[in-house]
Amino acid sequence: MADSPAAGAASSARSRRAQLRERYDGVRAEIDKARESAGRQDEVRLVVVTKFHPFSDQVHLAQIGAPDLGENRVQEAQSKALAWQELAADGGGAEEALLPGEGVPGRPRLHMIGHIQSKKTGAVAKWADEVHSVDSIKVAEGLSRGRIREIEESGAESLRCLVQLSLDGDEGRGGVSGDEFHRICDRVAELPGLELCGLMVVPPLEGEPARHFEDAAMVRGKLRTCHSAAKEFSAGMSGDLEAAISAGSTCVRVGTSILGPRPIL
Ligand SMILES: *Cc1c(COP(=O)(O)O)cnc(C)c1O
Repeated sequence: MADSPAAGAASSARSRRAQLRERYDGVRAEIDKARESAGRQDEVRLVVVTKFHPFSDQVHLAQIGAPDLGENRVQEAQSKALAWQELAADGGGAEEALLPGEGVPGRPRLHMIGHIQSKKTGAVAKWADEVHSVDSIKVAEGLSRGRIREIEESGAESLRCLVQLSLDGDEGRGGVSGDEFHRICDRVAELPGLELCGLMVVPPLEGEPARHFEDAAMVRGKLRTCHSAAKEFSAGMSGDLEAAISAGSTCVRVGTSILGPRPIL
């Protein structure tokens, strides 16, 4: 006799959960190993990048205890943030991810790690806990205005912001370089509702990631001479974790190694 639909759903939720847990633990172990070989005692945060994967995976990751999730497209990020609100309000929307009898988890912190059009800043300021991809003064000012509203209306905390550094000026990969990078950092630091926390980098395709991470680490050093609290260095993805951690990354953003391949659009 075939399993009932409910039993089938529970069994596929169980196996996806187990798979995510195993890979999440594996990446945490990889991070610890890289920290040890770099002789570092400090923490490295793991932001699990769930882009292109369903909301149910975010719920599984919350149940596993992943504190930080990342998304790189505003629309998708926003619909998942909304799904968390609905889940908290009436417990619905996560049936595929919950095991029988299991309670609804709290929402992990949501990180925006992709380019934001300036007209979308108000929306992002509503749900993001941290933005890694501030790349213009206009975006910074929009996030500030949006966050001030959130602070007034619902007592939100100031929005943690990282400015995205480009090492080769290739705008397709996002970020800003040179003096413009530092100008944006100065502006974020003075804007109300925002907290300048550091920088994010995606290494250029050409050349060795390790060298690019060292270059980014130099810029980070320079940034900290003016903004000593801007200590976050968001660098390292599935393929280049170790090099990033050896260059001082405080936060890696990992998708594929945990979620598996993204569907091709
Ligand atoms: C998708 C993405 C990641 C994760 O990349 P993986 O190679 O899947 O680990 C990290 N950072 C940014 C900005 C991304 O868009």
